[in-house]
Amino acid sequence: MNLDSLVLYNKIKQCVTLSGVAAKKGRLITEQDLGVIENAAVVADASLSQIVWVGKSSELPQQFSTIVNEYNCEGEVWLPELVECHTHLVFAGDRSHDFAMRAGGKTYAQIAAEGGGILTTLKHTREASFEDLVENAESEINRFQALGVGTIEIKSGYGLSLESELKILKCIQALQQRVTVQLVPTFLPAHAIPPEYKGRGEDYVRLICEEWIPEVAKAKLASYFDVFVEDGYFSVSQAEKLCLKASEYGMGIKIHADQFKSLGGTQLAVKLNAQSVDHLDNISVEDIKALSNSNTVAVLCPGASLFTGTPYAPARALIDSGARVALTTDFNPGTCPSRNLPLMTTIACTQMKMTVAEAIAGITYNAAAALGLETQIGSIEPGKQFRICQIKADSYKALPYCFGELQ
Ligand SMILES: [Zn+2]
Repeated sequence: MNLDSLVLYNKIKQCVTLSGVAAKKGRLITEQDLGVIENAAVVADASLSQIVWVGKSSELPQQFSTIVNEYNCEGEVWLPELVECHTHLVFAGDRSHDFAMRAGGKTYAQIAAEGGGILTTLKHTREASFEDLVENAESEINRFQALGVGTIEIKSGYGLSLESELKILKCIQALQQRVTVQLVPTFLPAHAIPPEYKGRGEDYVRLICEEWIPEVAKAKLASYFDVFVEDGYFSVSQAEKLCLKASEYGMGIKIHADQFKSLGGTQLAVKLNAQSVDHLDNISVEDIKALSNSNTVAVLCPGASLFTGTPYAPARALIDSGARVALTTDFNPGTCPSRNLPLMTTIACTQMKMTVAEAIAGITYNAAAALGLETQIGSIEPGKQFRICQIKADSYKALPYCFGELQ
């Protein structure tokens, strides 16, 4: 080991390693599993940006005592950099009018009928220039980063034509050259039926399978494929066709399921060994059981429930039956325009009765698992990437307590 490239971060007030969470692969987490070390030291290899050693300052091994590059971290609480595992971050246009209509008592369907909803965003995104989309998305990424986030998943899905879906995915590719946040691109052509295919959902599914998935795979523009399973959107059998084709082309699978109705999207996710199944506000008892016995991560969106005034996902039932549960903003212009991942922990604790430990794991280790990155990020352990969220506080408990602010 080259000692010159090592850096010693010493006297960290509190280091939340999540070592126990990682050992249990994110299931049935207790406070002890957070692996909190008081008066900690971390040794990192700067050339690899990798963690080498973690422990108490007083127990620093002799071999590291001669490290020249040392930082005094008194007063700092360290957590793994936060992971945002579900966003729709590349889009154009504003949907505040939808919110006002909803506040005035209009339903999702009425808002859509009056020209609001997802099709408004679709129109503006299709018309937007590549440069404008990149600039807008970059400022959104910066806002996430300012609140401790180091990895963000971004879905396409506001183009719904091959040309505009490719434009969005290429924006994500271009953004990765401009930001230090790690981006994970997801192809979501099955976000809604585009107006050109109204009443011809099967034709649209065939087009995605036969032409779009091969094209996106060839250009290596997406790590994951996603589909919105809901009445009026995509059926379970259409989702299955799409996901199998995407798997064939090497993409991982994510599914939006049970947001408004339980249709079997979760069962499909389990059957296909999807990386995650997201929303689950109306998941059935049988599906909770199926999901808990699988490796598929349950990604919950408390901000979307708060913002639209709809029921919260049954987090307690999922967690208590052994499911791996992650939290996300579901950042999107229609149902959750929040870039505040720490705030989601507050809502999860107060409205979904999650413990602070479960909520912290939900935006770190389990969110990393929802992206298949839990061996690289999501905990502070030797061998993992050196990606840290530092807060000035007395305890990590300040994170949900501070109600969306980060010290
Ligand atoms: Zn979503």
